[in-house]
Amino acid sequence: MLYEAKVNCPVCGSSFRTPVEQIIDVRVDPEAKQRVLGGNMNVTQCPACGWVGSLNVPFLYHDPSQELALLYLPVEAGVNEQQRQAAAGRLTRSLMDSLPQEERKGYLLQPETFISLDSLVRHLLKLDGVTDEDLERQESQQGLLRELLQAEPGEWELMLSEESELVDEAFFYQLQYLEQMLGLAEGAVPEGEKITELKEFLIENNARVKVLHERSQLVQPFFENPNRDTLVETLVKVRNESAQEMLIQQGLTLMDYAFFQKLLAYIEAAENEEERARLQALRRRILDIREELAAASQELLEERAVLLNKLLNTEELMKMARSHRSELDEAFVYVLRAQLAKATEEGNRQLQERLNQVGEVLEQLVEQSMPPQVVLLRSLLAASGNDAEMTRLLKEQSQLLDEAFFQFMDSMMEHAKQEGESEMLASLQSLLAKARHFASQPVASAAATSPSETTSPSGLIISKR
Ligand SMILES: [Zn+2]
Repeated sequence: MLYEAKVNCPVCGSSFRTPVEQIIDVRVDPEAKQRVLGGNMNVTQCPACGWVGSLNVPFLYHDPSQELALLYLPVEAGVNEQQRQAAAGRLTRSLMDSLPQEERKGYLLQPETFISLDSLVRHLLKLDGVTDEDLERQESQQGLLRELLQAEPGEWELMLSEESELVDEAFFYQLQYLEQMLGLAEGAVPEGEKITELKEFLIENNARVKVLHERSQLVQPFFENPNRDTLVETLVKVRNESAQEMLIQQGLTLMDYAFFQKLLAYIEAAENEEERARLQALRRRILDIREELAAASQELLEERAVLLNKLLNTEELMKMARSHRSELDEAFVYVLRAQLAKATEEGNRQLQERLNQVGEVLEQLVEQSMPPQVVLLRSLLAASGNDAEMTRLLKEQSQLLDEAFFQFMDSMMEHAKQEGESEMLASLQSLLAKARHFASQPVASAAATSPSETTSPSGLIISKR
């Protein structure tokens, strides 16, 4: 959920408005968890001096699948305990309000509170099974990598002999990741050359790294050019089980009849009994993993059917749908369509109507995540032929007729041309002329659309979007 806040830049002191996220519900937005874990919450840029950083504003983290509510309440949230409690109460209330009645549970009223972001992140990681030792090891590895890159190559051998225990798969991937990132940077980066030099040094001098490097070379042809041939070839060559499993998951859609024919050819051409047995075991493993994944997608459909049932029975359809945003996916649409077809066939008018309502809410949610220009264009096309309605829409929303709007129109016209949709193209062309006319009119009044404001306990001016 986004709010707009007025903040002061910690560097130059100028004040500006920026969106802030205060309720983080990972069922609504699963990517938000990574933002929290990476410490990238509420990152903003000062328009005056260009400072980029995280705003230290309180937020409430909610994961309904684990009945987990965590409150981040930094000291900046209020000058005294009373103000801080008021900030906490406001966040809890707004989370409660966003949920339908039947999803408001007791644990939401007593969120665990953290005053530092670091302790909240550690708590989340612990729940995911990451231990303090894991974190310490990761920090030591990062430290070692930093030190190696600062040192002269001549010192590497000694440094590594003391810390050889830290050089493992995770260390190697971190090195490779850094190399890729710097390789993508503009121009030649001297650090990039040193990283490559270090990597080559490790491949030559560390047996563990050598094996890892050979394995990543082995799977390279498939990732560069994923098709049935490279998949079979790579699977047959790779002997490490976790690497095989990764390939099977990545190549799942390529595993059809032709794929298994190719694999069979390898089995038949095996040089000896041992190799044949190995390849047959590989084939069984592929079939097992495929079956597991198919079972998982069946389970997913069942979960979506449960969700659809919830939506059919709630009195707060929109709230319920919104709070399950990330679960309204392709699998959900599949279940919805299937039930609609069944209800139609059985002549169950009441159920049909309710299912259609769910479909409409879904449509609205999709529109809400679209840029407003696209929504306007969709409404305009729906009103095609109704001149009065089109004029009304264009007049009322003329502030949306900007560069982005005309770019969308261009790309739609291009698409219609390519697909030979002459009717669509004609509608777009006549719409374009009308839109150009209204785009050149002066904007009526921007002040009328400014949202209402309230002052939050932390001194931020908050207005709901
Ligand atoms: Zn600034």
